[in-house]
Amino acid sequence: MGKPRRAGTASVFRMLPSTDELLQLPETAKFAEEFGHRRLAQLARQSIDAVRQELAEASAASGDVTKDTLRDAVLEQLKRVADVSRSSGIRKVINATGVVVHTNLGRAPLSDDAIAAVTRAAGYCNLEYDISTGGRGKRGANVESVLAELAGAEDAVVVNNCAAAAFLVLSVFAKDGETIVSRGELVEIGGDFRVPDVLTQSGSRLKEVGTTNRTKLSDYAKAVNENTKLVMRVHPSNYRIIGFTEKPSLKELAELAHKNNLLVYEDAGSGAIVDLARFGLGEEPMISRAIVDGADIVTFSGDKLLGSTQAGIAVGRRDLIKRLRTHSLYRTLRADKLVYAALEATAAAYIRETAERDIPVLRMLSSTRDELESRAGSFVARLRDAGSENATIELIDGDSVVGGGSAPGMRLGTVLIAISHASVRAEVIELKLRMSDTPVVARIENDRVVVDLRTVDEGEEDLLLRTIAAAIG
Ligand SMILES: *Cc1c(COP(=O)(O)O)cnc(C)c1O
Repeated sequence: MGKPRRAGTASVFRMLPSTDELLQLPETAKFAEEFGHRRLAQLARQSIDAVRQELAEASAASGDVTKDTLRDAVLEQLKRVADVSRSSGIRKVINATGVVVHTNLGRAPLSDDAIAAVTRAAGYCNLEYDISTGGRGKRGANVESVLAELAGAEDAVVVNNCAAAAFLVLSVFAKDGETIVSRGELVEIGGDFRVPDVLTQSGSRLKEVGTTNRTKLSDYAKAVNENTKLVMRVHPSNYRIIGFTEKPSLKELAELAHKNNLLVYEDAGSGAIVDLARFGLGEEPMISRAIVDGADIVTFSGDKLLGSTQAGIAVGRRDLIKRLRTHSLYRTLRADKLVYAALEATAAAYIRETAERDIPVLRMLSSTRDELESRAGSFVARLRDAGSENATIELIDGDSVVGGGSAPGMRLGTVLIAISHASVRAEVIELKLRMSDTPVVARIENDRVVVDLRTVDEGEEDLLLRTIAAAIG
């Protein structure tokens, strides 16, 4: 290599390594193993282009540039694009936000049993095979009967998500007719699930009754006519109307509907299998309660309060569930074997009555403020030992959130770990946490980074501690 020299932009560009040259360097061998040659060649070209761009913008003629410095610059760039490429896939993150059912972070984390069941089902499994007869078996038969049992219903069917379940119910039972819904329940749940739109897409016509805050039984009664096919109730999961409000009980509504030979369908959304009132979540409808009160079909999500994987579960009368399962749409909405495996293991914990211990969502919801204070207290003591002396680490009172559109306005008291630094802004600490090998997602409140251990598994605490210590060190 010659001495550093001043060069014109054009001749500097000629000193950039070619893709082939780059790929032959020993430094790129490990990337080839990880990404394969074709992808690595793309990343290499991208890196060379980026350095070329930098040179053009910095009018490279002003600096001392050699083939060596350019090669190093390109290799540096390659490391960066490899990092980006690596981090763009699905990765584990630590949820330190205190939002239990965090839709952006994959909603419910699975129980250990559910993870093991998913792993077992990942190979060949008896999804539609009856081991005792050696013949064809019914897809999801066991988990569906367990889910029906938990709901106190005659039967159950599993589809992709609750939106799919609602769509299927409306398509099968309300197409080409009217569905009566209260104006107080025409809700939007997370951007693309809007009750009026799902109704229209299913081929049913919306018959709105009542007002936003008050709908009476007589409003429903007056709306019934020869075109009515279904009475639908929607749990307005993510918002509350408070004050001067009224709506008939499900029991009253079911009596009215059945008197008129109509079906009542309740979209419960989150739904609860066990009574969550003792965690302050009494307003979430219990699935079994809705069945007792007379709903013919109830739908709910697999990955909200149930604490399992993405799925939509419809429970209810056997003849009705059978019509859902045998309709041609079912084939487009049906769930994957991994879903049945996760649901089956989750449902087993409810049957054993160990749900609160085994299912992460319920464990997190049931953590008391005192428990969280004691965990946070020992965590902070360790963090102070490991962290920087310029950091201020304190315990403050705060609130966790149920999330997933459940129980809005519901406050779950917690104790937060608040972190600030004499010379590093909260936004920078938060960014460093997010960009760590295992990204940590935390919140910022009043210029401090706050960490809520409610959504952190105890087994993740050591890693969280090291990551925070590195970010403020
Ligand atoms: C969340 C929710 C849905 C959508 O459920 P997904 O499983 O996300 O499709 C539908 N209805 C209600 C009332 C909900 O709360």
